[in-house]
Amino acid sequence: MAESVTDLGETTLLGRRVPISEMPRSAVLSRWIIGLGGLMLLPAIILFHPPITLRHFLVFATFMVLAEVLLTVRVGPGSFYSVSQTFLFVYFVLGGGVAAATMEAVVHFISWVVQRFRRGANQTPLFALFDIGHKVLGALLAAFITAIFYSNRVLAHPIPQHPVGALTVFAIAYFAVTVSLKSIAVWTRAGFSEMRSQLWPKTVLWDAISTATCLPFAIVITLLAGAILYGPAAAVIGIFLAGVSLILRLNVNLRQGNDELKAVNRIGTLINATLDLSQLFSIIAIESSKVVPWDAFFIALAEKESPAIQIIFMTKGGSEITQRTIPRGAGLTGRAISTGELIVYEQQESGVALDDEGTLGGKRRPRSIVVAPMKFGDKVIGAISVQSFQSNAYRPSQSGVLQTIAAQAAIAIRNAQLFASEERARVERDEFFSLVTHEIKNPLTSVQGYADIVEMELAGGNISEAQQAVQVVKAEARKILRLMEDLLDSSKMQAGKFTIRKEPTDLSTVVSTMARKYDGRTDHTFTLKIADDLPTVYGDETRLGQVVENLVSNAVKYSPEKTPIQITLWFDASAVYCSVADKGLGVSPEKLPLIFERFYRVEEGGAEVKGTGLGLFISRQIARMHGGEIRVKSRVGEGSVFTLELPRKAN
Ligand code: ADP
Repeated sequence: MAESVTDLGETTLLGRRVPISEMPRSAVLSRWIIGLGGLMLLPAIILFHPPITLRHFLVFATFMVLAEVLLTVRVGPGSFYSVSQTFLFVYFVLGGGVAAATMEAVVHFISWVVQRFRRGANQTPLFALFDIGHKVLGALLAAFITAIFYSNRVLAHPIPQHPVGALTVFAIAYFAVTVSLKSIAVWTRAGFSEMRSQLWPKTVLWDAISTATCLPFAIVITLLAGAILYGPAAAVIGIFLAGVSLILRLNVNLRQGNDELKAVNRIGTLINATLDLSQLFSIIAIESSKVVPWDAFFIALAEKESPAIQIIFMTKGGSEITQRTIPRGAGLTGRAISTGELIVYEQQESGVALDDEGTLGGKRRPRSIVVAPMKFGDKVIGAISVQSFQSNAYRPSQSGVLQTIAAQAAIAIRNAQLFASEERARVERDEFFSLVTHEIKNPLTSVQGYADIVEMELAGGNISEAQQAVQVVKAEARKILRLMEDLLDSSKMQAGKFTIRKEPTDLSTVVSTMARKYDGRTDHTFTLKIADDLPTVYGDETRLGQVVENLVSNAVKYSPEKTPIQITLWFDASAVYCSVADKGLGVSPEKLPLIFERFYRVEEGGAEVKGTGLGLFISRQIARMHGGEIRVKSRVGEGSVFTLELPRKAN
């Protein structure tokens, strides 16, 4: 046997697959005792009462295997409808209890082999053997009970007299005994609560229905046998029973499909009723677990341009456990997102460990995984992944359901994202309007005030005072103009309509002009260091001037008076650099990446300094249009160095 002590495999209990290593000791023990009991009792009895009618054995064992393998209908979790007992009951009449128990053992062994082959059941052979022992014990005990009512002869002999009565007692006893043994298994495994759950009564009910169907037909075969022999009688009734099973199966499939449809419908209604992303995730997790039961679940989101996929793990209760990011294209999830195709994955017990981001860590690896891509039009915006510790946990129809849920989720998530970005845009617009009105109102008020002064001074004949006031009017008007130009530039950049005209440009001229402009306008001490033989760059002189001016004006704005500002120009093999260093406020590391965003301003410290948050945004865009970049190094309270880097090669 390949299984080690630690990997005992799984067994099925009320339709749920349970790892044997996780079962309580009493549950494992009771199985062993019952199983071993049955297995040991059988040879002992065979020895004393060897079964006869071997000729019929093959015929009925074949009928029973066919019925067990082909006609058993799974009505619900753990509930089965089976007509195979018909042949067991008839064979009891033909050969007695021991013969019936032997046939039970052989048939269940064969059907276990077939199932393992067909569905890859993970039950270890040892455990399956005990299951068989369990069944054998059921048949033997039923035979003993029948013997109490009739004679000991029913144990090992055909029952020519009163076959109907003996058969009826055997069938009822068989039902009672097997249900009792099953109860012990469930009770030792999960206690009383499991038996009171809905599953247990359903399981017993369907066992009763099976027995109730099998008993009359077994009687009919027994009676018919007088006229047309056992074999043909069993064949005729077998065909009829096959019809009954197939109709039931059809019905069950239809009902299942109907349930799935309803579930999909319900999820659709629920998720379309909310625009809140976390609420959406919660609904998707809770509702999908009802139709596609899972042990681990996550929603993966792939932003359009982001190189990473964000993964959100959820509980069955619909709350978030944790988030993780994985590189685009990684694992099954990445594959589902890049191909847009549904992935159904079965992890082999002994196979290579699955390198998947989607597992929640811990020791247990999922056996079955389904990843359904969330498609919106032809774009894949993410995926939903369900994982089960059981092998072959998902029927094809369940993967289909998950795909439908994913398609609905895609629309709902997209809507929620659009709503959120609309909301952000609305807030941004409001902020923008209040900023612009504020920024224009101040200089306009000064313009108006100083225009009044000009008028007054002119009326009084004070020409020089009037001229001074006109200077202020002009400076304030320049501010408004500048603001308008910045706004225009930034919206052109947003629309992709901003252009530059490149020609050989001498940066040292640009910088010297700027320094001259500021000289005398502030109390800062400027130093200018320009490397010898500075090469020219290929760029737009006016726009580059705008960048340098912005850096210098920021240095002036955000550093105290009389502190030094140093402008340095140098170059290396690949680029020409212009840095502006101040000893001012500085920017904290977490805000540093943000200062280049449109309209972003550091609120604290420099809040009293006027600005729009456009300067650095525009400057960086201009630098990038030249194939260059603006970098910054800064320490709060010590100062900042902004460096413009421009490539030497024309591009
Ligand atoms: P504005 O100066 O109009 O607010 P910018 O885009 O030029 O807009 O700058 C964005 C923000 O970056 C400023 O609000 C300021 O907080 C910060 N910042 C820019 N330059 C400096 C500097 N030299 N020292 C400290 N903070 C600065």
